[in-house]
Amino acid sequence: MKPETEERIGALHGAGGELAARFLHERILPKFRRRSAGRIGLDALDDGATVDLPPGEVVVSTDSHVVKPIFFPGGDIGKLAVCGTINDLAVMGARPIALTLALVLEEGFPLDDLERILDSAARALEAVGVALVGGDTKVMGKGELDGVVINTTGVGVAERAISDAGLQEGDAIVVTGTVGDHGMALLAAREGFELASGLESDVAPIWPVVEQALAVGGITAMKDPTRGGLAAALNEMAQKARVGIEIREEAIPLRPEVQGLSELLGISPYEVACEGRAVLGVRPDKVDQVLLALRSHPLGQGAQVIGRAVSRYPGRVVLTTSVGGRRFLEMPLGDPVPRIC
Ligand code: MG
Repeated sequence: MKPETEERIGALHGAGGELAARFLHERILPKFRRRSAGRIGLDALDDGATVDLPPGEVVVSTDSHVVKPIFFPGGDIGKLAVCGTINDLAVMGARPIALTLALVLEEGFPLDDLERILDSAARALEAVGVALVGGDTKVMGKGELDGVVINTTGVGVAERAISDAGLQEGDAIVVTGTVGDHGMALLAAREGFELASGLESDVAPIWPVVEQALAVGGITAMKDPTRGGLAAALNEMAQKARVGIEIREEAIPLRPEVQGLSELLGISPYEVACEGRAVLGVRPDKVDQVLLALRSHPLGQGAQVIGRAVSRYPGRVVLTTSVGGRRFLEMPLGDPVPRIC
């Protein structure tokens, strides 16, 4: 009796038996080129892996990813799951070194889709030289989840980690590129909007860009504007540091498609997620150099100063609009577009 076909995930793929082992050795492991970051790596299939770390502060980060659709313009859930964790490490100021990836799959999930997802996860890891040192696959029954959930956990090392609470009065607020691309690209893909044809998610591993800025110095705080977008990131930074943030709306880089969609749908582009951007607080004497450094990398070419940290309105974000009005940019209640990261 052959309980599984080769085309779809069955319960046995996650059951730890012969089929699961063959599946792992033939279909999963070969996709990842860098499988070790220490004496005991992924190929050992041990209960854990060892990771050799350079001196510095060890930073650990984890995230589970659900996204609909799982393949979207500019990426898929595999790339997103890798970038999500790499970017959290990066904005802590940490060089990402090793990652684990855990899959929870719905019975019946197409194997071809799984391969595409893992290929794209592997490419994202290779782009930043990060090793996959551990993984897990669990299969749940049909209807018990919607396709696939991916958890990634990453380890990195920072000379000295940078928190998102370190803003100081006078700091320039810098964003590394256009905002809202990821959330709006997903929304457009879901709704089939012609207007946004060509709009892609910005999902990318941002460590190489952040590394350029760190080399200059003068960075007081950093955050990736994922759920809740730029508005959530800025409000959190202002609240934690007890400073105000003044933003000039006309300085915020925005794609015309994102602007158009946001007007059409009544969704603020500042409240939807980016997956390949960072928001930085930079000491004023370093900001010119940091901008040059960020722009030297393709993923940081759109870097702009969008405002500064001030003593007025501690914990709040004030937006000066393009027509000269002023209003608070509030902390979003939630992401207006669910299931996007
Ligand atoms: Mg984050």
